[in-house]
Amino acid sequence: MKNIQMVDLKSQYEKIKVAVDKGIQEVIDSTAFIKGGKVVEFQQELENYLNVKHVIPVGNGTDALQIALMALDLQPGDELIAPAFTFIATAEVVALLGLTPVLVDVDYHTHNISIDALKKAITPKTKAIVPVHLFGLNVDMEDLLAVAKEYNLYVIEDACQSIGAVYTFSDGRQVQSGCMGDVGCTSFFPSKNLGCYGDGGAIFTNNDDLAKKMRSIANHGMETRYHHDRIGVNSRLDSIQAAVLQVKLNFLNEYIAARQAVAAYYDTAFSNTDKLITPGRTASSTHVFHQYTLKLQNVDREKLQAYLKEKGIPSMVYYPIPLHVQKAYRSSKYKIGDFPVAEALSATVLSLPMHTELSSEQLEYITRHVLAFVENKKA
Ligand SMILES: *Cc1c(COP(=O)(O)O)cnc(C)c1O
Repeated sequence: MKNIQMVDLKSQYEKIKVAVDKGIQEVIDSTAFIKGGKVVEFQQELENYLNVKHVIPVGNGTDALQIALMALDLQPGDELIAPAFTFIATAEVVALLGLTPVLVDVDYHTHNISIDALKKAITPKTKAIVPVHLFGLNVDMEDLLAVAKEYNLYVIEDACQSIGAVYTFSDGRQVQSGCMGDVGCTSFFPSKNLGCYGDGGAIFTNNDDLAKKMRSIANHGMETRYHHDRIGVNSRLDSIQAAVLQVKLNFLNEYIAARQAVAAYYDTAFSNTDKLITPGRTASSTHVFHQYTLKLQNVDREKLQAYLKEKGIPSMVYYPIPLHVQKAYRSSKYKIGDFPVAEALSATVLSLPMHTELSSEQLEYITRHVLAFVENKKA
């Protein structure tokens, strides 16, 4: 049996090596390393895949979020609502821009922002909501968009973990993750569901004006060469990364299916124990399983992790500390106890190996050992 990894990029690469190597070599031969034809090609291919008007390739997912927020022309003190349980980047860019992140609690079942909590957090200063489709499951966007409409708020989706997750509205419309709000942001960090071989990211929008503005912001605020109309940043996807992504986009649906098959295996294996709560699903969204995250019930997480490690099974805690408890974000505004669900999740979640290359032998081995520990039986 191959060594078990959280993410096995090497085995995945071996299967697409010929095409990836060819694409990278073409970039080197052309020396069009920046803004090469492959970046434009990939942009168009991703627009087609997502059925969205504009894809703007950028340097990484964090930049994507920052550029999206910069395009909204917000003022210092404007409030943006984000979930308390997520990766730090979401709230980080809000704070970096001198805006005020307002954190709200999440739903225990889906790990995603709670729409009820969100409604209660709206004030006259609220300008935008930044929902995160955590672990690959879309937020209940129909409800969220209704709240945004009622209060006239921008919606900037953090789709860094959810590319390819499809949301079905009650009128039957099916929309890709990141393409439902005003702007969507994604990351091509190597371990993401569509990952490149370095840093990369993209912004999605159907809004022509915002697209133009965000393209300009990503390029030093330039509209025409050396005419800088606004303060921007330098953030671009390079051609070698675009070449890798062009190949991998062709396999994205297969990769999602492989992840879903792993999740189904785990679900079945863990269905008969009350020590493990398997990840929640919703009727309105597919789940693309960036992570497969269990909630432990009366199980010592550290001891379980140590046991698994001894057996050669990696596991990770995403995320061990909710944002309002992070040192950098602690303020007089928040205290421990404010977001009980986020806190409970941080204390009990455990993510198991999840990638496109897990074999049934590996899955059998992982689930057998997890169950042996939590049920206190011999493996
Ligand atoms: C990965 C990630 C980001 C940041 O993406 P980078 O490309 O690493 O900058 C932001 N938000 C979420 C939820 C992520 O998972």
